[in-house]
Amino acid sequence: MISMRSVIEASYFIAAILFIFGLKRMSSPVTARGGIVWAGAGMVVATLVSFLHPGMGNYMLMMTAIFIGGVLAWYSGKKVAMTDMPQMIALYNGMGGGAAAAIAAVELFGGEDHGLVFGTLAVLGGMIGAVSFSGSLVAFAKLQGLMKRSFRFPGQQVFNLLLLAATLATAGYIVLAHADVNTIAIFFVLALILGVTMTLPIGGADMPVVISLYNALTGLAVAFEGFVLQNAAMIIAGTVVGAAGSLLTQLMAKAMNRSLANVLFSGFGEESGEASEEVSGSMKPIEAADVAVMMAFANKVLIIPGYGMAVAQAQHKVWELTQLLKSRGVDVKFAIHPVAGRMPGHMNVLLAEAVVPYDIIYDEDEINPEFPTADVALIIGANDVVNPAARNDPASPIYGMPILNADYAKNVIVIKRGQGTGFSGIENALFFLDHTRMLYGDGQAMASELINEVKAL
Ligand code: NAP
Repeated sequence: MISMRSVIEASYFIAAILFIFGLKRMSSPVTARGGIVWAGAGMVVATLVSFLHPGMGNYMLMMTAIFIGGVLAWYSGKKVAMTDMPQMIALYNGMGGGAAAAIAAVELFGGEDHGLVFGTLAVLGGMIGAVSFSGSLVAFAKLQGLMKRSFRFPGQQVFNLLLLAATLATAGYIVLAHADVNTIAIFFVLALILGVTMTLPIGGADMPVVISLYNALTGLAVAFEGFVLQNAAMIIAGTVVGAAGSLLTQLMAKAMNRSLANVLFSGFGEESGEASEEVSGSMKPIEAADVAVMMAFANKVLIIPGYGMAVAQAQHKVWELTQLLKSRGVDVKFAIHPVAGRMPGHMNVLLAEAVVPYDIIYDEDEINPEFPTADVALIIGANDVVNPAARNDPASPIYGMPILNADYAKNVIVIKRGQGTGFSGIENALFFLDHTRMLYGDGQAMASELINEVKAL
């Protein structure tokens, strides 16, 4: 006779395999969509199995919660623009952290003695989950433009450290002294405040790294609570998310040439205090017809897509233009910066959608040596990732971030709508160089014009 326990454990095992398989498929844009479906199926299995647990009690409440969550997620998932994905992820992350903290709260307020090890895990998971919850909500508010500026005051780091120490001390007291409900409530309030005060001073440009960090922390919190509940799916999913989130955090910090400590404590993306170098010269416009001639008779064209290409949804037209140029014998390659756009891999996802073959898509370190031999660097809606201030202006907030060396190309063409700055809000001297020309207009409209002009040659 197969026991219910075995059915539950076997289902969790299947769910875990689906998570890991899904994650593996997400590592390439070709298979990523399928990966999401696999992992989603794993989630459905894990959710359904929770109904089988003995003593689950109120099924109506569970179904209502699943219905409300499902509808909200379905609606927001359908509606969100690709470019708003980071804040969406921040919000979902926050929910994960909040859920882990809620489990910890149920366990701690329940008053049951979990012993030293499981008690510690419950409290730590609760603390990390609560910090991720409130921190992610602040990150969401910043990226959504609901909170415009970073909030800093003198001695903020010392304040945060003291708050951290107080939260940890309360956690220790709860584990060792079986504290009353008031102390437990104070503990959660302290952790929630810590999440807010930790995130408030961090500049907008660092938000992606912070969101990824909270993602990793949420995974950790879920895994800890999984141990407390003896729930295999939570332990495995939490560990996988924690590991993947940590790797992503590291990769993103590296892409910006920053350490994690620097991201968390330095207020990057804020005014640096020192004056940045003045940008001199003027932006020189050019017509699509002239750009078409320049590219059609070039030997090598390097295309740099950025956030503006995503906004304009120009990827299909850009690929059409690429094919036209290639048919004329031009060597065309795509140069992808790791933080171009608004989320990790954003450009790769868009280019995959337009079925651009991978062998002409290059990472920053692969393609940078090729700029000096390129006749044209065609920048479509990118700004910060080609800003030479990152290389040569120590006072610039993006100083030190590796960039694509578009300015080393023989000619630089920039497609953008006007004088708009990039995500970091700073001026870009590249647009004022003697060998740079501005093709003003929407990314997709300009790509279409270029296609027509090249065809007409
Ligand atoms: P960017 O610096 O944000 O610049 C985008 C440029 O596109 C703007 O200057 C804008 O100028 C132009 N643009 C906007 N809409 C357009 C349209 N419809 N057609 C043509 N151009 C348009 O972009 P980026 O170079 O890709 O750099 C990404 C930035 O986002 C970095 O600072 C990065 O740190 C940050 N970030 C990255 C991630 C990530 O994980 N990848 C996440 C969040 C933030 P106009 O207004 O003049 O058109």
